[in-house]
Amino acid sequence: MPETIFSKIIRKEIPAKIVYEDDLSLAFHDLNAQAPIHVLVIPKRQIDSLEHASEEDAKLLGHLQIVLQKVARILNVHESGYRVVMNCGRDGGQSVGHLHYHLLGGRTLVWPPG
Ligand code: 5GP
Repeated sequence: MPETIFSKIIRKEIPAKIVYEDDLSLAFHDLNAQAPIHVLVIPKRQIDSLEHASEEDAKLLGHLQIVLQKVARILNVHESGYRVVMNCGRDGGQSVGHLHYHLLGGRTLVWPPG
């Protein structure tokens, strides 16, 4: 699993607008925001994609979802609502090979996605 740009962000070698951080995870604003609020939540330990996760990652994946809830509260979209997306693989539109959740909010989001 080759490193991605997200590893450099985790090590603070390149800047990112960090919203939340703990021992296991990092949340930062997406460089190319698709909504007024667009934050990425990533595990510090690289898992290439959901397809590469295993049963032993279940606790970490659950933790990331609680971090998403914290981020929504920090950015005050917890009452208006938000969307959580994880792209997986080529057809899923994944462009960075380090598992991440997108949290989108701050406007009404359309469904279905493209
Ligand atoms: P994916 O397409 O893999 O689901 O999402 C990757 C996301 O990472 C994209 O929304 C893209 O804008 C974001 N991204 C890529 N490189 C960087 C970067 O260097 N900094 C930040 N903050 N976001 C990035």
